[in-house]
Amino acid sequence: MKILCILYDDPKSGMPKNYPLPNLPKLKKYPDGMTLPTPKSIDFNPGELLGCVSGELGLRKFLESNGHQLVVTSDKDADGCKADKELVDSDIVISQPFWPYYLTRNRIESAKKLKMAITAGIGSDHVDLQAAMDHKIDVVEVTYCNSRSVAEHIVMMILSLVRDYHNQHKIVKDGGWNIADAVQRSYDVEGMHVGTVAAGRIGLDALRKMKPFDVHLHYFDRHKLPDSVEKELNLTFHESVESLVKVCDVVTINCPLHPETENLFDDKLINKMKKGAYIVNTARGKICNREAIAKALKSGQLSGYAGDVWFPQPAPNDHIWRSMPNHGMTPHTSGTSLTAQARYAAGVREILECFFEKKPIRDPYLIIKDGQLAGMGAHSYSKGSATGGSEEAAKYKK
Ligand code: NAD
Repeated sequence: MKILCILYDDPKSGMPKNYPLPNLPKLKKYPDGMTLPTPKSIDFNPGELLGCVSGELGLRKFLESNGHQLVVTSDKDADGCKADKELVDSDIVISQPFWPYYLTRNRIESAKKLKMAITAGIGSDHVDLQAAMDHKIDVVEVTYCNSRSVAEHIVMMILSLVRDYHNQHKIVKDGGWNIADAVQRSYDVEGMHVGTVAAGRIGLDALRKMKPFDVHLHYFDRHKLPDSVEKELNLTFHESVESLVKVCDVVTINCPLHPETENLFDDKLINKMKKGAYIVNTARGKICNREAIAKALKSGQLSGYAGDVWFPQPAPNDHIWRSMPNHGMTPHTSGTSLTAQARYAAGVREILECFFEKKPIRDPYLIIKDGQLAGMGAHSYSKGSATGGSEEAAKYKK
């Protein structure tokens, strides 16, 4: 079979010769008892770069020794890109949300042999899920592989926004020492109201991680959490996103992108937020309206916006979020720490082993199976597509 794998570029200075840490901590299970990825074996050293082109998700030896062809590229956007050329006779396509290959309906319809799209990570919105359903292409992701990595990033971003770390760090880097400049936007989070839009694996972990800061915790989700969890965290459940944003000083967004959540944070919803609130969005860029966020930061309706997700990706060089005031954006990195890469590379290998051996892929990994939303797809997504406008990614110039 032919496997097409779209990965981000190697470091500009080439693959690292060594890494800061000699090895990774060993984890036994995810917090709910789910086992970590369990491939029969792996051909990479956990802790090394795997998500870039030369890292190949550690798959080449395994695939070639089993008679398969592996094509890896980062060239994924403009007309005539290598990924489009290779897609037409590929059986499986692997892509990461950090450098998403937007599997639009046109692309899906060009790929007559395509059987499965694997997301090396979590979040399969870069696939036109409706087109995948219509053409009976299975979509799977490595559920839980980087949920806790993202929750750590959320805590970092909440603290750095509210305390205004970015401004203070810049003052030092620029050789300055004006304390008043450094603290004129700096607060403690203690006592604030912090809410998550969605309390799935990431949202709930972010709430748990924020609890020791003595904040008031809130959530909104289409699925209510068990009473025991609400009690443990002293959580306030909201029936609607409007109700949550009205009372929260900090809102973190942790739902998948699908037609129900696309453009959720528009002018109207942002204007219902508490004046001067902060948003941390590590879910997907398109859940927030690009112009509405920039406008609210300028007017002071929002005091800060941080996250690592943009639309499209890579973000065009002139994307307004690069230059708006009081933002703490990073490129899409929270779920691709070296730690997370080891887990999702192993998860992709597990999925491929199951596929080749005709064994069932774990139910929680399924987004679409046999033309229907299945597994986590049925729990967390709605039918339709959120890939519209993704061709703008071709505007990014390296
Ligand atoms: P999850 O499936 O465990 O949780 C998703 C939650 O969203 C579920 O509880 C679901 O009920 C809720 N939800 C879905 N639609 C909703 C709606 N319309 N209104 C309210 N709640 C809704 O997934 P997770 O592991 O927590 O990941 C969530 C999302 O975070 C992913 O889909 C992905 O988009 C994003 N993510 C980002 C990164 C990153 O690197 N930045 C990494 C992993 C995941």
